[in-house]
Amino acid sequence: MNNYLMHIHGEWVGEELDTLSVTNPANGGQVGTVPNGGKAEAEKAIAAAHVAFEPWSRLTAYERAEYLKRWHQLLLDNEEELAQLMTLEMGKPIHESRGEVKYAASFIEWFAEEGKRIYGETIPTHVSGKRLQVWKKPVGVVAAITPWNFPAAMLTRKMGPALAAGCTVVVKPSSESPLTAIKLMELCEKAGFPKGVVNLVTGSSTKIAKEIMENEKVRKITFTGSTEVGKILIRQSADQVKRLSLELGGHAPLIVLDDANVDVAVKAVMASKFRNAGQTCICANRIYVQSGVYDQFVKKFANAVEKLKVGNGVDESVDIGPLINKAGLDKVERHVRDAVTKGGTVVTGGKPITNDGGVFFQPTVIKDVDQTMVMMQEETFGPVAPIQKVESEEEAIKLANDTPYGLAAYVFTENVARGTRVIEQLQYGIVGWNDGAPSAAQVPFGGMKQSGIGREGGHEGIDAFVESQYVSIGME
Ligand code: NAP
Repeated sequence: MNNYLMHIHGEWVGEELDTLSVTNPANGGQVGTVPNGGKAEAEKAIAAAHVAFEPWSRLTAYERAEYLKRWHQLLLDNEEELAQLMTLEMGKPIHESRGEVKYAASFIEWFAEEGKRIYGETIPTHVSGKRLQVWKKPVGVVAAITPWNFPAAMLTRKMGPALAAGCTVVVKPSSESPLTAIKLMELCEKAGFPKGVVNLVTGSSTKIAKEIMENEKVRKITFTGSTEVGKILIRQSADQVKRLSLELGGHAPLIVLDDANVDVAVKAVMASKFRNAGQTCICANRIYVQSGVYDQFVKKFANAVEKLKVGNGVDESVDIGPLINKAGLDKVERHVRDAVTKGGTVVTGGKPITNDGGVFFQPTVIKDVDQTMVMMQEETFGPVAPIQKVESEEEAIKLANDTPYGLAAYVFTENVARGTRVIEQLQYGIVGWNDGAPSAAQVPFGGMKQSGIGREGGHEGIDAFVESQYVSIGME
């Protein structure tokens, strides 16, 4: 077990502070500790980022890209070490952790290049003797607050564009999985980023966030996490009108229509639903299957789910790791109990597994569900697939949109006109059409409605870190 430290102004600090334990959810063992930082540490990190901003922002995009490319390569070179640490601290199966390291690295590479394409504009003038231009500027010091479920990718999806645009960064990772983030800071150090350009603080989220919100040096907050915390940050950002980007919770519907290829749908739902034990913001939470293929889909899907192996993610053969903690397990159990009480039928699974000190839940399929059940109203964040029978395309669309969330949705149909018609009516920022894994560095990721504000990834992902400055030049 290691005692990890915070990274401020190029130094490893926080040895004198109390510590927080990071626990392996597969067996309850301690993986490491991090300093329990608060206001003072956040203030120091912000001050370091503030001092570093001026010289960093004056580098050319090409020079900044060189640092990012070195960091990108270091992630790839250290894939195995990062993946093992990720699995230990938050439980995802090792093959998924390796996949996440590659995915995390892809954002750094993408934005290293995208930084070179932050174009300004020259706008035709309405009077002679003037030139109208739009210049682009980095927004300033950025605070990035990240969740536990993708400890590497959620960080690089923010740091990549922020650094490429010329911003400096203070990262506050989740206390459940801060170690991968700390390892990424070590790699930043090896990549040679100047002191203060990247900083990381661990500890009390409320104390650190309070300082971030009250400190005038921070111009931008980029947050990924729950909608509940996102709303707190919106309120707290009001006093200084801080720039805010939010990637929040989802409650993804997945629609299988009568003309779907059921085998394709089953394969895609397996990928979407059970990745990270169902603890992803875009995983299918509500499955609506049209009556013509309902029985066939339930049977094939349940057969596939029964083959999944649950266990400690370090075992190469494991498909489903633990939930993040006991509270996560309790929530899944509560949702399943509620569904069964209200008439849902467990086709497979349905029970917790708590041997060896771990917090696991059986991969579960529940049919005969309806909208009155809690799992059809809220993110379950677990390996539970509820299936509701629908009679028509219109009913599926109505149910799919009947939520305050709007992150990801999935549609399965082989009919192009029908697929197009359905997707045009879905109020979701991301749609997988015959596809259960739509994420990629080069596409815009983000939600409508209460699932967030802004987009990460793609060419849009850098906009959040850039301000437009309109310059009117008199020429007479
Ligand atoms: P969370 O509880 O909202 O925590 C996210 C981050 O916010 C953590 O670093 C946490 O720190 C911090 N935090 C907690 N309370 C805070 C407060 N009052 N002020 C400031 N920061 C605070 O979310 P989570 O449980 O880690 O992540 C799961 C959620 O994230 C799900 O809802 C999921 O859908 C969403 N998510 C969304 C996306 C997306 O792209 N839209 C991607 C991944 C996850 P501590 O851990 O130290 O408390």
